[in-house]
Amino acid sequence: MTDLLSAPEAAEPLRGLLSGRLFFPGDEGYDEARSPWNLAAVLEPAAVAVPETVAEVQQVVRAAAAAGLRVAPISTGHAAVPLSAFDLSRTVIIRMSSLTGVTVDPMLRTARVVGGTVWKDVIAAAAQHGLTGLHGSAGDVAVAGFALNGGISFYGRRHGITANAVRAIELVTADGELHRVDSDHDADLFWALRGGGGNFGVVTAIELDLLPYADLVAGMMLWDRSRAAEVLPAWRDLTEDAPESVTMSFRVMTFPPLPDMPPFLSGRDVVVIDGAILESDERASELLAPLRALGPEVDTFSRIPASGLPLMHMDPPQPTPAVSDSCVLGNLTDGAIDAFLGYLGDGTRSGLMFGELRQLGGAFARHPDDGGAVSGVDGAYALYALAIAPTPDAASRGLAASAALIEVMRPWEQPNSCLLTFAEGTTHGEDAYGTACARLLSIADRVDPEGMFVAGHSIR
Ligand SMILES: Cc1cc2nc3c(=O)[nH]c(=O)nc-3n(C[C@H](O)[C@H](O)[C@H](O)COP(=O)(O)OP(=O)(O)OC[C@H]3O[C@@H](n4cnc5c(N)ncnc54)[C@H](O)[C@@H]3O)c2cc1C
Repeated sequence: MTDLLSAPEAAEPLRGLLSGRLFFPGDEGYDEARSPWNLAAVLEPAAVAVPETVAEVQQVVRAAAAAGLRVAPISTGHAAVPLSAFDLSRTVIIRMSSLTGVTVDPMLRTARVVGGTVWKDVIAAAAQHGLTGLHGSAGDVAVAGFALNGGISFYGRRHGITANAVRAIELVTADGELHRVDSDHDADLFWALRGGGGNFGVVTAIELDLLPYADLVAGMMLWDRSRAAEVLPAWRDLTEDAPESVTMSFRVMTFPPLPDMPPFLSGRDVVVIDGAILESDERASELLAPLRALGPEVDTFSRIPASGLPLMHMDPPQPTPAVSDSCVLGNLTDGAIDAFLGYLGDGTRSGLMFGELRQLGGAFARHPDDGGAVSGVDGAYALYALAIAPTPDAASRGLAASAALIEVMRPWEQPNSCLLTFAEGTTHGEDAYGTACARLLSIADRVDPEGMFVAGHSIR
């Protein structure tokens, strides 16, 4: 019967919930609440709820179910592009950015991370105990969307994908009930959530293992773009032979001329290597020697507090409009290097802000028996192409440029490997989850029989 109602009529029973933190199109506050971190994505939901308590999450889920509406949980909207591909006119977005908090148990070396908490808050709390977490390159990404979709960290070649560090998950399912799942309590749903993420409910807390690092060797090196053909083969050789204590990235980057940018970046086409090395200073210097021999213009590799690691990759500190494409490479032959650098040209003509190679292998490629639906990433390097997209035209051009780089690199693609956290297209079903898809669908039939939840990477 609710299908016969227009979307605004169907959503009307939710009006008044959450004391003014549930917004409808036309309400003051709706645009701010639906605006994601990635400003290139336009989300047009029937309503946006910003709960501050688990009880409020339950209230909204129950009301949406009764109204025949779907629910899309998000935390920051870093991965809003795939979600924006769905028709959300009959969907309530539950934005978890006001339901946050971290508790660290230094004895067990775990953290309990509430709802939409971002990594930098977890890193700061863990650092007080000489610990850190398996976070990614940016501190303002939420733990939920990162860990539930796999998550690759600069600690990852030694410690694996972040989903494997998750010990327990609390979530509100389609019936409005709150559950706590782990390997002893609904192990099937616990398996499904670690990779299947937002397809099964609104996650209100995650318990995960922390890492015993108060400091580490990390940093970046930079050369002019004209040195790329020397630097990339040296980086490939280093990363092919490197121990699992090393996780690095290589990028060809183009920076616009901006007055508030440091002069060594503003208006430049450059090559940047960054990463983390979990070794003594002496061993790290030995490993970095082949790169240092190429005389980088900037070299910040040194021992730093673990809490400084999220600043190293120079991710934008504020919401940014960007489009991207990605794939996983099985290897990086001389031919692959020529193709990569050939496409990126002198930087400016590619239409991309950067083309990135992120080192995989090591523990990333191991799939532990007790892992979830996504338990590792097969392949040697993640390839990621990104363009800044302040207008729809720029987004179209950027998507075409990103897709073209991925296409150029197809001959070296790792078959049947997908990195969900980097996948911005409408990656869903077997394309996203491979052979795990059938089991995910059968678990969803039990916990969400009506298919209420809309996730950026859908299992359907
Ligand atoms: C600048 C930048 C740097 C990045 N660096 C890395 C990196 O180093 N390594 C890496 O692996 N990835 C990286 N990413 C990708 C990032 O991990 C993904 O975009 C991730 O999904 C973002 O999670 P989020 O919760 O912040 O985003 P959101 O867009 O809010 O969420 C993404 C999806 O996760 C699910 N979800 C989020 N919160 C909840 C919840 N509370 N309950 C249920 N489901 C939820 C939903 O399905 C949602 O659609 C980066 C992205 C950006 C923009």
